[in-house]
Amino acid sequence: MFEPAEPKPRLRVVLCAPRGFCAGVVRAVDIVERALQIYGAPIYVRHEIVHNRFVVDSLKSKGVVFIRELSEAPSGPQPVIFSAHGVARAVPEEAKARNLFTIDATCPLVTKVHREAQAHFKRGRRIVLIGHAEHPEVIGTMGQLPPGAVTLVSSIEEVARLAPDDGRPIAYVTQTTLSIDDTRGVVAALKARFPAIDAPPNQDICYATTNRQEAVKAAARQAEAAIVVGAANSSNSQRLREVAEREGCAAQLVADERGIDWGALANVGSLVLTAGASAPETLVERILKALHARYDVALETLTTTSESMTFPLPRELRELV
Ligand code: SF4
Repeated sequence: MFEPAEPKPRLRVVLCAPRGFCAGVVRAVDIVERALQIYGAPIYVRHEIVHNRFVVDSLKSKGVVFIRELSEAPSGPQPVIFSAHGVARAVPEEAKARNLFTIDATCPLVTKVHREAQAHFKRGRRIVLIGHAEHPEVIGTMGQLPPGAVTLVSSIEEVARLAPDDGRPIAYVTQTTLSIDDTRGVVAALKARFPAIDAPPNQDICYATTNRQEAVKAAARQAEAAIVVGAANSSNSQRLREVAEREGCAAQLVADERGIDWGALANVGSLVLTAGASAPETLVERILKALHARYDVALETLTTTSESMTFPLPRELRELV
């Protein structure tokens, strides 16, 4: 006897816009693709070009070799590309000493923070960097200046532990992918301790981080759970998960649909879906497909702003095409 299939449970899915790739990630991936076209494989990339396994694996399949340190790159005509997160000054210096051909895929918004830190140093300022220890961007920014020139803080508690005012002017810069809300608190603590502290002319947290956090915050207010597509080592993706959680959503950060904790979605009627700045849209599509397979999905998009930012490729790649 034919048994009618159980109807799928209904699930309202609120898709955040903007989400996913930012202009800096698009540029970094384009740089590698363009270098492959021009110079052929192998192309060497120092560290993950962006923090996403899918992107890294797909570039590997085209002949990109990811290395941890420059010493792993052979001398010769093949380029070595620096990742979107930026590098300490010692890295291009080492490359120059070894006569390596390098291409810099550092996001221009990270380079802007490097320049701010260098300008503060030239003016004799004590510099505080708000960021997460060990993140490649933080290592790159601190490495723009001699050891000891920049003090890293990541919390209000660490601000309280900073050495007292030593008479030197003081300034702060930040990592580009921080939580807007957390950073506001750390900045307020810095201003309370050092009222004359010099702030960045425009905030260092980048437009993409800001827009994705605002979108997920608005969407999370209307939903019970959230899925953020992104890598566990992606700072901006982790911050999206935290923002959703603070708005009361049970949030999970997943690399792709295989990472979804379906048990956590039992009895959930509304779900936010977004993606970190290094997660390609194809992964969002795979998640949606997996959701459609289990649920009667009512899909809507919540657009909080539109983006038109683009960054040009480095001149050496533009001129050769
Ligand atoms: S998240 Fe912001 S700083 Fe980082 S690559 Fe994207 S645009 Fe650049």
